[in-house]
Amino acid sequence: MKLRILGCAGGIGGRERLTTSLRIDDDILLDAGTGLASLDIDQLVKIDHVFLTHTHLDHVAGLALLVDAVMGKRATPVTVHSTVNNIATLKRHVFNWAVWPDFATIPDAENPILQWESLEHGVPVELGGRLITAHPVHHAVEAVGYLVGDPQARFLFTGDMATTPELWRAMKNLPSLTKVIVDCSFPNAEAALAEVSGHYCPQALVEDVRDMPESTEFLIYHLKPGQEDMIMQELTSNAGGRTFRALKCGDQFDF
Ligand SMILES: [Zn+2]
Ligand SMILES: [Zn+2]
Repeated sequence: MKLRILGCAGGIGGRERLTTSLRIDDDILLDAGTGLASLDIDQLVKIDHVFLTHTHLDHVAGLALLVDAVMGKRATPVTVHSTVNNIATLKRHVFNWAVWPDFATIPDAENPILQWESLEHGVPVELGGRLITAHPVHHAVEAVGYLVGDPQARFLFTGDMATTPELWRAMKNLPSLTKVIVDCSFPNAEAALAEVSGHYCPQALVEDVRDMPESTEFLIYHLKPGQEDMIMQELTSNAGGRTFRALKCGDQFDF
């Protein structure tokens, strides 16, 4: 299984400029932020499944453009996996004919280019031997992180999140969890803002993951533009032996 980072920024205008989208092999996306715009049309057409962590614009903006771009170029719909509530939110507020067409009825309701698939916490979705399991996380809106892979090799992508002890309790004894991609959006001076907006700051993240094995590599994403160095310095000085590294657009990992 190959993982490629198409976008991992916490906003535009900083060192990283594309928002959250991760590609697994050629056919699966985790989130559909502006990062997917770096794919060409042949690559876009190969995307069969999109798993959304939540409905915030920086994670779904590219979804609307993706289904438009591949219309007429695929024999089957793009399947978008999310929670029941988040699917309802996207139908009501985005794919409503006012903000964007309802691509679940285009070109017709029997053979649409987009189909919604609701997922449940803790129930794996299996796609060609790859298991993708949603775990609830705390954020400003309903959100999940995804555990991806199999018992031989897997990674966790948290999506946007604030303190969620139950997630780390579930993860700490999992064999073969070698990498965690985790939000750390704000420096410690903005801990109150991080809390109210449902993101980690360095202090809260280090505290939350203190029982995770030291062999698990932590890759930080969603850094706020202009504050990347400060956040990473604060993580490093708080780390207590653990290594944190900033995720970069274009990074690739094999599992
Ligand atoms: Zn968010
Ligand atoms: Zn976000």
